[in-house]
Amino acid sequence: MRARWWAALLHFALCGCAATAAPAGEGGGPTEIHYTFTVPESLAHIHARVCFEGPAPSELMCGVRWGREYLRAARSGSGQALPVREQRVQLDGVGRDACIEYEVALQDVADTYGALYAERRGDALMSNLALWLWRPPAWRSAREVTAAFELPEGMAVSVPWAQRADGRYRLDETAFAYLAYAMFGRFDVERFRVPGAEVEVARLDGLSPELGASVRPWIETAARMVAQPLGRFPRERAQVIVIPSNPREQPVGFGTVSRGGGPSIGVFLPRNSDLTRMQRDWVAVHEFSHLYHPFVERGDAWLSEGMATYYQEVLRARAGLQTPERAWQRLWEGAARGRAADHTLERESEEMFFNFSFPMVYWAGAAFALMADVELRKRGGDAASLDAVMAELAECCSAASRPWSARRVVARMDRIAGEPVFERLVARWVRGPRLPDLGPLYEELGVVVDEDGAVELRPAPAAALRDAIMRVDPELAGRVQRLGRL
Ligand SMILES: [Zn+2]
Repeated sequence: MRARWWAALLHFALCGCAATAAPAGEGGGPTEIHYTFTVPESLAHIHARVCFEGPAPSELMCGVRWGREYLRAARSGSGQALPVREQRVQLDGVGRDACIEYEVALQDVADTYGALYAERRGDALMSNLALWLWRPPAWRSAREVTAAFELPEGMAVSVPWAQRADGRYRLDETAFAYLAYAMFGRFDVERFRVPGAEVEVARLDGLSPELGASVRPWIETAARMVAQPLGRFPRERAQVIVIPSNPREQPVGFGTVSRGGGPSIGVFLPRNSDLTRMQRDWVAVHEFSHLYHPFVERGDAWLSEGMATYYQEVLRARAGLQTPERAWQRLWEGAARGRAADHTLERESEEMFFNFSFPMVYWAGAAFALMADVELRKRGGDAASLDAVMAELAECCSAASRPWSARRVVARMDRIAGEPVFERLVARWVRGPRLPDLGPLYEELGVVVDEDGAVELRPAPAAALRDAIMRVDPELAGRVQRLGRL
C-alpha cells in the first residue's frame, strides 16, 4: 500500500501535469477569462466567479479526474443551476460576456486525500490548484486570463502566478497545463531576492520557532546554489511550499517541482531537522535544478533527473557543503547501480514507474550529464561547459508550456553546443546496451575510488578540467556560511 502510494506520488510529482490533458484551443471560445476567488474564514471551501469576455466556452472542466465530486454549486450569473455531464459543467446558453459561479469543498478534499491534493494545518490550507481552477477545454485560445482573491482581513494567499501592478494575477498557458499548489489562510510567508529572482516561501504550521527560522536560510542556500552556474536563478520567480512532517532520519523529506503558472517546489520538512543538515541536504537544490530545463516527458526521466542529480552533487561541492571527493564518490557509486540494468537506459527510464528503478535511472542520467560536461569542457569554445549549455537552455526553454521529449531537449542542447556532443553520448549510453560506465572517464580525470569508497584525486592529463567542475566558488561558499549562522 505504502509503496503504491509512493509510486502514485512520484508519478504525479515527476509528471507534474494535471491529470486531465486539455486539448489546444481552436478558437470560438472567450478571448478573456477573469476569475475571482473568495475563501471564507473557515477555509471550508473556495468560491469562484468566472467572467468571460466574448462567447462563453461550451463547458468547464477540472484538472483532476474526480474533481467533480467536490464541486458544490455551479450557477449561471442569473442564479440558475448549471448542469454537470461527464465531469464537466455545461455552459450552453450562458451567452456572451457572461459570468458564472461555482464552489469547491476544499476541507472535504483535505479530509479524504491529504497532502497530495489538500492539507489543512491550523489556520491554513494547502491545495492542488487544479481542484478549483476549472478551465475551458480550449484554454490556449484565450488571449488573457487573470485571477484575483477576496480574502478575510489578515488572511494571505500564496500561488505561483505572476502578480500584475493592479494586484491581479496573470495566468499564462502553463497555469492550466501543469501541476501547481496554493496556500490560503494564516501562515508564515517570507519573500527574498536571489540573483535574478524573487522567491516566496510559504509554510504550513507545525515547526518549532527555531526550525521555522531555519527555513528561509535553507531555501536561500539552495536557490543561490542553483543560480551559481548561470550567474542568476533560472527563472524570474519561484514559489516554495514547506510542509512539516513527522520526525525522520533524513534532514529533508520528499520534494517535488511543479510548473503550473510559474515554477514552484514543494518539500516535506521533518520536525526534528536542523539548519546545518538542511543546508547540506540535496533535495531542495535538486528540485530547483529542474528549472534549468523545460518539463521533460515522464518516460524520459533519465535526462531531467540525470541533470538534477548531477547538479545536486556538483553545486554542493561548489558551495563548500561537501568535499569534491565526496561528490566524485557519490557519482561513482550512483553510476555503479547501472551495472544491474537489464535493458538500455532509455528502456529502464520508460519502465521506471513499474519496476521502481528510480535510483538506477537517476544516477545513470547523472553519469551521462558528467560525461557531457567533460566533453564540452575538453572542446572549449562558446558553450565550454554544461553550465553554459544550461544557461541558454533555461533562457529559451525552461518556461515552455508543453512537455518536451528527451530527443527534443538533446537536439536543442546540441544546437547550443554547436555540435552533436549530447546525441553521440545518447547513442552510446542511453540507447546502447550498457548504462554509463564511469571507469575510463575517472581514469582520464585522475579520480581513483578504492573498494571502501575512499577517493583519491591524482595528477592526470585532465586534472585541471576535473578540478574546475567541483571548484569551490568562494563567494557562494561565504554566503552559504553566513546563511548557516542564524
Ligand atoms: Zn527530480
